[in-house]
Amino acid sequence: MFKSIKWKFILIYFLLVFLSMSIVGIYIVHQLEDIQLEMSRKNMEKRIQSIIYSSEVLKTKEWSENVDEIQENFRSIQISYNENLYVILNDEQKTIIAGSVEDIIGQSAFNTTSINNYIFIKSLTGTAQYTVPPNQYEEIEGDTETPIFYHMSYPVKMDGNIKGYIYITNNIEYIYDTVNKSMEIMTQATIIALTITIFLGLILSSSITGPIKELTFKAKQMSQGDFDQKVNVKSNDEIGQLGSMFNFLIDELKNSISSLQQEKSKMETTFKYMADGVLTVDINGNIIHANPVAKNILLLSETEEKYDDVVKNIKGDMVLSNLKDKSYHGTEILEKGRETYNVDYAPFMNNQNEIGGVIIVFKDITEQYKIDKLQREFVANVSHELKTPITTIKSYAETLLDGALEEKQIAEDFLNVINSESDRMSRLVSDLLRLSRMDYEQTKWKKEKINVGEMLGQVAKKLHIQAKNKNIKMHLGNIQDDIFVLFDRDGFEQILLNIAGNAVKYTPEKGNVWIDAFRDNNKINISIKDDGIGIPKEDQLRVFERFYRVDKARSRELGGTGLGLSIAKQIAEAHNSKLTVNSEAKKGTEIIITIPEHS
Ligand code: ADP
Repeated sequence: MFKSIKWKFILIYFLLVFLSMSIVGIYIVHQLEDIQLEMSRKNMEKRIQSIIYSSEVLKTKEWSENVDEIQENFRSIQISYNENLYVILNDEQKTIIAGSVEDIIGQSAFNTTSINNYIFIKSLTGTAQYTVPPNQYEEIEGDTETPIFYHMSYPVKMDGNIKGYIYITNNIEYIYDTVNKSMEIMTQATIIALTITIFLGLILSSSITGPIKELTFKAKQMSQGDFDQKVNVKSNDEIGQLGSMFNFLIDELKNSISSLQQEKSKMETTFKYMADGVLTVDINGNIIHANPVAKNILLLSETEEKYDDVVKNIKGDMVLSNLKDKSYHGTEILEKGRETYNVDYAPFMNNQNEIGGVIIVFKDITEQYKIDKLQREFVANVSHELKTPITTIKSYAETLLDGALEEKQIAEDFLNVINSESDRMSRLVSDLLRLSRMDYEQTKWKKEKINVGEMLGQVAKKLHIQAKNKNIKMHLGNIQDDIFVLFDRDGFEQILLNIAGNAVKYTPEKGNVWIDAFRDNNKINISIKDDGIGIPKEDQLRVFERFYRVDKARSRELGGTGLGLSIAKQIAEAHNSKLTVNSEAKKGTEIIITIPEHS
């Protein structure tokens, strides 16, 4: 209970008021008692002096010789109810010669209990003595009824000699009654003051602890995530200022939190929709955050997984200890299935400015990697393709220079070889140029409406001699003359010549080539079919790759460059068209060109 400020307040106030009231009370009562006693003493002294001065015999005559007169005189003195008076002779016995109590007259002052021996003996020296009861001589323990008396022994002198003593006792109970009454009043006042103190203390402390309690309550609500808190500011004092500051801080906090949340949500959206995979791992290898792309790459389940468990099966040297060896900084290439990723990782700091973990970014570079690979292969292929005719030409030219030129027949044969190899080189170079132009989209397609039947007729005508040389029958279908396509004329012819040329090339003597075209759902299918050597299943998809040939030697022998079909495919794709292969080894091949119809 006394842990609360409220009760501490009240306790302190209580003690403060209690102590001050007690000190003031005790002081006042004591002072009162002292003043009263002093007044009583003075009154007694005056009373004795007035008795002496009003009596001739006491004042001027020798007491021992005038005892009777003194006694006579004494009877005329008015004795008040609360006092006792005695006249004591200064003889050997100190005899009481007159007094308000008749019984003790004639007795020695030393032998009566009415006289306080202590002060009486002290007064024998000649100075008046008095005592303030209760004291050790007068107080009778436990006897509260015993009246309390003030004693005074007053020596009366004449010519320097003590004639006798006037002894007076005064009942001063009324002083103690007054003192006790005052004490009672002070106690009551203290109790009233303490009650008021507790009451006021409660009001005062509540006015301080109330707002503090409210602040504490609101702060607790805030700690539970409820920031819609405001305290009521009722005053402009320190407590009021604390409340205003609290409200200000809440507003600031709310603003900061909302901008933080905005930032967080921006970051989350960025992470969620970014094309790269982002993974955050703490220093102990726990995955803190993974965006959908990273989850997909690493096949992360929703359950908490350790980074090392996930990564060790994909790329062992990317486990956390290895990244640590490189100070959590570096780049790796990660190949997973058909995908290739560039993995960058870098450390992040915690609030103590120590490494708190590592952020790993997976960038899908599959396409770029493939292109790089294709480029390398392409350069190797081109070099290889060029090297063969150049070697042939060089060796034949050298042989000619070495003397073969003399023999006409041999020289002619050699020059024919050189010529045909040069043709092949020139075909290769022009094919490469065409491809390169298409790659860099420098080819300007002049799309025009072309009659498919007419174009197929021309192509058949161009291949006629080639076919005739091999005794191949060309079958041109009965094509409707209202079939049109929107195509670049040269490009269209190139596709058809490449495909139909292949049909003638890869069909043995006395074979057949069929060329036909027909409508199919707003599309035109041009079919070029042969009963030649066919293309094995496993090669069918790859024949459209650059330099891919099923049988390299045969293709070369037949003057092929390995680029015909890839050029045809690229031109077709530039005109929203596609090529399909249907073939069976040793039975024949059909290549279908599907083009949108142009009405
Ligand atoms: P090439 O200049 O070698 O003919 P292409 O790109 O035109 O190059 O053809 C690629 C490969 O596809 C050829 O080398 C050949 O092996 C195969 N091919 C193409 N057309 C046919 C066909 N009609 N019959 C059999 N094989 C073919």
